[in-house]
Amino acid sequence: MQGLMQHWPLLCSKVIDHAAIHHGKREVVSRSLEGPIHRTNYAEIRRRSLKLAKRLEQEGVVLGDRIATLAWNTWRHLECWYGIVGVGAIYHTVNPRLFPEQIAWIMNDAEDRLIFVDMTFLPILEAIAPKVPSLKKIVVLTDAAHLPETTLANVVPYEEWLAEADEDFAWKEFDETTAAGMCYTSGTTGNPKGVVYSHRSNILHSMIAQQGDAMALSSRDRVMPVVPLFHANGWGLAFTCPMGGAAMIMPGAKMDGASIYELLVAERVTMSAAVPTIWLMLLQHLEKAGGELPDFERVVIGGSACPRAMIRTFQDDYDVRVIHAWGMTEMSPLGTLCSLKPEYASLDGEALLDVAQTQGHPPFGIEMKVTDDENRAQPWDGRTFGRLKVKGPAVAGSYYKGIGNEVFEDDGWFDTGDVAHVDPNGYMQITDRAKDVIKSGGEWISTIDLENLAVGHPDVAEAAVIGVAHPKWDERPLLVVVQKEGRTVTKEDLLAFMEGKIARWWMPDDVAFVDQIPHTATGKIQKTTLRTQFADYRLPTA
Ligand code: ADP
Repeated sequence: MQGLMQHWPLLCSKVIDHAAIHHGKREVVSRSLEGPIHRTNYAEIRRRSLKLAKRLEQEGVVLGDRIATLAWNTWRHLECWYGIVGVGAIYHTVNPRLFPEQIAWIMNDAEDRLIFVDMTFLPILEAIAPKVPSLKKIVVLTDAAHLPETTLANVVPYEEWLAEADEDFAWKEFDETTAAGMCYTSGTTGNPKGVVYSHRSNILHSMIAQQGDAMALSSRDRVMPVVPLFHANGWGLAFTCPMGGAAMIMPGAKMDGASIYELLVAERVTMSAAVPTIWLMLLQHLEKAGGELPDFERVVIGGSACPRAMIRTFQDDYDVRVIHAWGMTEMSPLGTLCSLKPEYASLDGEALLDVAQTQGHPPFGIEMKVTDDENRAQPWDGRTFGRLKVKGPAVAGSYYKGIGNEVFEDDGWFDTGDVAHVDPNGYMQITDRAKDVIKSGGEWISTIDLENLAVGHPDVAEAAVIGVAHPKWDERPLLVVVQKEGRTVTKEDLLAFMEGKIARWWMPDDVAFVDQIPHTATGKIQKTTLRTQFADYRLPTA
């Protein structure tokens, strides 16, 4: 027998409808590219998204067309997403930090036919547009008065373009499994791979994110998505915030410590989300300039491992709760978040930090397991590490055009490429990317643990650990360090600082000081480049 309940397709347009009806006055505040702070609300965002959908239809955009965005987080970018999905097209977020050739490659792969672009990124488009023949129109996210000079053809200012349509439009309806968005992984090895989100997966992902042990956003929250919409589906916040009726504070192009601090305080932000690098800049700003974070309650930190020292500073100095989270572009992107189960509720001090430093546990909607190379499930003992695999309704089942699909296993599990262990209470901790792990004498050393420890030293700004060839042990760890401005630290100091906090045989064999560590387009340490840089390095122990 079938259930007799209504079929209510999970379409993204329903989110903005809900927000406009029930939280219509909730603010969307942005630092505009033109300069001033811009204020609007969900009712207005919905109205303009309807116009945008209608205007796209006038452009001939139909179900399934890919529409690119190359833009910072602002109210206009949000309107673009809702307008695009509302006409049945697919938002394709392009990461401006990729190399221009990579941008051209992914835009060709996606066959984008129209692009919404911020003025700051016009030079990128000028360089690549001739190489993207599918691209027929360029809409610059500003008004005619601010439109920069450009050599590009088919360029129109957003405001005037949008004004050519009215909001008399009904959201298109289609099957909930229809594609809604596209995001390419950064492709540090090989070409980027396209992940294609559906309406259903976006809605379910936001409902997953809304659970009490996950983001739990409410209409009392004022959320600042610092994580850009072009990184890993914007961590789902473009849907989760309006779904929960939370106000959105969009930082635009300015993500330095001072600018973020200014918005956090002036806009009474209660919750935010971004990679550790952003928070490092904020905390460094606060260290220098002073300041308090009176309304800021919690911060989701993920994308790469959140250093223990950062969790401690937020918690002890600013009374902000860090929710360490792990996820991937392929997972829409949330996988696990670190909130305290009753088993850990009474912890404090270092024991609490031990738990807070893990990537946490999955909300309902994500299954996870850790296996050895033969796909045998490993025990959840907090020690045994193996390959981390996941399943769920917002986890990719295939890449666009099937390229790179070997990570999707026959039994339905997605091999994340991360190495992790899980403790008896289900708290997962990433120890490495499978390809970065160091194998010393047949045993694994976690580079993330070593990096985490090294950045806890007060004179260290950033640290990376890579394996370097060793005649006896195959590989041994080399610690690469960037010192904080105006500070100096010696190899001996650093090693003494690490001594006793890790197993003896994990201790780095050497420390190399550099001016900077290379990063990927999503702000992660680019270990491949580091390994090339230190390919001929001879360890003193070799
Ligand atoms: P990209 O691959 O495009 O850089 P993703 O966000 O998809 O961007 O990267 C996902 C990867 O980032 C994960 O597989 C994992 O290796 C790493 N990662 C994400 N969050 C964390 C975290 N909290 N701790 C450690 N690694 C993380």
